[in-house]
Amino acid sequence: MSKITSVTARLFAVPLDEVLVDAKHGDHSHFHLVTATITLEDGCTGTGYTYNGGRGGHATAAMITHDIAPFLIGQDATNVEALTEAMDWHMHYVGRGGIVSFALSAVDIALWDTRLKGSGQSLVKAAGGASDRCRAYAGGIDLGFDLPKLLSSVQGYLDRGHNAVKIKIGQPTQLEDIARIAAVRDLIGPDVTFMVDANYSMTVQQAIDMARAFKPYDIAWFEEPIIPDAYEDYAAIRATTGVPVSQGENLHTSHEFARAMPHVDFIQPDASNCLGITGWLRVAQMAADANVPVCSHGMQELHVSLVSSQPHGGWLEVHSFPIDHYTTRPLVIKDHLAVAPIVPGIGVEFDWPKLTPFEVAL
Ligand SMILES: [Mg+2]
Repeated sequence: MSKITSVTARLFAVPLDEVLVDAKHGDHSHFHLVTATITLEDGCTGTGYTYNGGRGGHATAAMITHDIAPFLIGQDATNVEALTEAMDWHMHYVGRGGIVSFALSAVDIALWDTRLKGSGQSLVKAAGGASDRCRAYAGGIDLGFDLPKLLSSVQGYLDRGHNAVKIKIGQPTQLEDIARIAAVRDLIGPDVTFMVDANYSMTVQQAIDMARAFKPYDIAWFEEPIIPDAYEDYAAIRATTGVPVSQGENLHTSHEFARAMPHVDFIQPDASNCLGITGWLRVAQMAADANVPVCSHGMQELHVSLVSSQPHGGWLEVHSFPIDHYTTRPLVIKDHLAVAPIVPGIGVEFDWPKLTPFEVAL
């Protein structure tokens, strides 16, 4: 038994090197990082976090401070899964996804950090330990790049040791998207794995037409071709075109994942918005039952441990928001594989002096 004595949220607005654009979310000039630090009565501390595209961080931090911290203080931190479920019901009426899922994720990850530091275990081991490394791909937010810049960006991924890449699609015309896909395939050659991501910008018919048009370029998956809620239509796109489909970054509750799972070839939960490590592992179990590889979205420095830990682990996304640059161990790539940290805790320690200039007063 170890009681929670404090829960502290902090917000950082971390600038990106340049403005990044995808098909639906507008310009990204910075991202929000919300950290939650939990202290136990025995002095043990743990830090979890969530992130977003630069909108929603204030509300997320406020929810942790005003609603979740008072609920947690005085409770026993030992049974993380039970606490996360209790927090979920505590906030259910204003939640069922959205900001609540982001706030609870940060807190769940902090609870896992205290648990693992207390037991001296690494996350990759505690989460399943199937391997200590996993396949990884570089995912660009590159819809706004002109073709020369897109190609130099993709070349940069290869130079950094990746053998799998993903680009955004959703240009004004299908012809423009196909020209970019053809140019990227030409650059990377036939052996590099290549995915595309439409950020749910298409109708079902547009997605089917697009998938048929890019089929000759050997695309490993078509990510979020259509809105996340049209679960069955994902399977329709796959059935009509033979192109594998994926989604998950916009699903937050286990009920949403249960509905999506039968209709995708790859599932992409993000522990920062689906109830943390507890939520991600729950989705991983659902994926195992459905025989679907479990992948990830964003926060590669944490997900490397989760994807590696699973026997049916798929692909780790190496996202364009470089959270790992603000940690003491940026992501390690060896022989094209991402390598999990073997240290007690979640394996993500923030470099606080590096982050502090970007802190936003709450
Ligand atoms: Mg995506």
